[in-house]
Amino acid sequence: MGRFRAWVVDKTATGQSLTFGERDDADLMDGDVTVRVTHSTVNYKDGLALTGRSPIVRRFPMIPGIDFAGVVETSTHPDYAPGDGVILTGWGVGESHFGGYAERARVKGDWLVPLPEGLSGAEAMAIGTAGYTAMLCLMALEHHGVRPEDGPALVTGASGGVGSVAVALLARAGWRVIAATGRATEADYLFGLGANELLDRASLAQAGKPLAKERWAAAVDVVGSHTLANVLAGTKADGAVAACGLAQGMDLPASVAPFILRGVSLLGINSVTTPQPKRRAAWDRLARDLDREALAAMTTTVPLSEVDGVAETILAGDVRGRTVVTVS
Ligand code: NDP
Repeated sequence: MGRFRAWVVDKTATGQSLTFGERDDADLMDGDVTVRVTHSTVNYKDGLALTGRSPIVRRFPMIPGIDFAGVVETSTHPDYAPGDGVILTGWGVGESHFGGYAERARVKGDWLVPLPEGLSGAEAMAIGTAGYTAMLCLMALEHHGVRPEDGPALVTGASGGVGSVAVALLARAGWRVIAATGRATEADYLFGLGANELLDRASLAQAGKPLAKERWAAAVDVVGSHTLANVLAGTKADGAVAACGLAQGMDLPASVAPFILRGVSLLGINSVTTPQPKRRAAWDRLARDLDREALAAMTTTVPLSEVDGVAETILAGDVRGRTVVTVS
């Protein structure tokens, strides 16, 4: 206990500042579990928070980092004891409660998930919020009842964090996977993760017809806007689309035609406040089903001190797969 290193976002007259320095335990916010953070990650939302591009941070000063894995140091929560491995994603951590870009975090035990057996802290953060969200998408599609026998599954933003994990998970679950990407140079990478076919994302990016040729039975969309509208228009009758992202935009310039003429369903995915039972089920399944070689292939690692450098790159759509941050 004592001092620890952390990134801090603060408000300035012209926007926001980002500094890396030492903090004191007394600075930590309220919580019943104190964690030695071993790993964090860089998600798209972290890029927005670090740069101030969108108002993600809702309290200043703030330690950013929307997820972390670590080891419990002290706990008054009945579920956790010193030495336990834990994961945290969501719940406003890194937005309104101090987050994962720090060697120490104090949080509510109710927000934590036990590190599943067989998963290391580094692997948990290679998955991170992005991979866990990909699993929520797959679970939503399965819950809807759509199956690999019904046709292929499309993944948009396939080379990114959510997309890469979604490709690997869908392939492992028996789907024929169509990976939509703007990066033809990542073809080998995507085929290596289990994609069967590539689609140029430009073909989905502009305003299209209310209904298009039926091409996929299921989809995971991280892009939103015209892309999501076109994904819906190309979904087979009674198929489903899990929508979780807004890389192209937050708008949805679509028609109701796919819903009322083809029975297509749009499934919304929110990873931030997912209730505990579903959270634990998703993490247990990730530990069981996600191919570790695929996970290693999609992971790049940076030290905590270099997190700022990844922020602009992820917003530019230039990060491939997942970025793990080694913290302590
Ligand atoms: P990444 O930046 O890693 O991946 C996004 C990918 O989308 C890029 O790699 C790129 O893939 C593609 N892309 C980027 N810009 C555009 C564009 N203008 N038009 C079309 N495609 C584009 O981000 P994450 O995977 O971390 O997050 C993806 C999205 O999901 C974000 O919007 C994020 O906020 C959201 N999200 C939502 C969650 C929730 O709870 N609902 C949880 C986690 C993430 P390629 O180069 O292959 O085309």
